[in-house]
Amino acid sequence: MLNLAKTLYTGRGDPLAIVQGSYADNVAASFGTHAGGGAVDISVLVKDNASVVLNRAEMEELVSALRQAGFAAWLRLPNDLNPPTPLHIHAIAVGDRELSEPARRQIDGPEGYLRGLNGVPPEHGGPQPDRQGGPIICAWMIALGYQDWR
Ligand SMILES: [Zn+2]
Repeated sequence: MLNLAKTLYTGRGDPLAIVQGSYADNVAASFGTHAGGGAVDISVLVKDNASVVLNRAEMEELVSALRQAGFAAWLRLPNDLNPPTPLHIHAIAVGDRELSEPARRQIDGPEGYLRGLNGVPPEHGGPQPDRQGGPIICAWMIALGYQDWR
């Protein structure tokens, strides 16, 4: 899925620049979403020039490429989560069989991507409306039983 995002994306960032991967539960601010498979945090720095941060439109373009590839993905601004986190892109692979329960909830739970929300549970300051216009639904998602639940 990340490789597909890479082929869809033409900007200065890098969909393969993972700053936190899956099967990791060392970051408390992730509240278990990275404990299973299919969860990645992507850098918002310019590829091969990590002293430069992408601008906001470029970050959103990277999120869009991840969504087109099948991720529930969001730009996480520092105050989107309580407690605050560094600016990053958080992405959950829709349909991954090894998602943790908190990750799956970010797709189809009450604050989930498919409901047009940002995936942040109330105990971490959410949910808020998705800033990027709601989910991109692929035919294979519908085959898996997902749909646009807005
Ligand atoms: Zn994350």
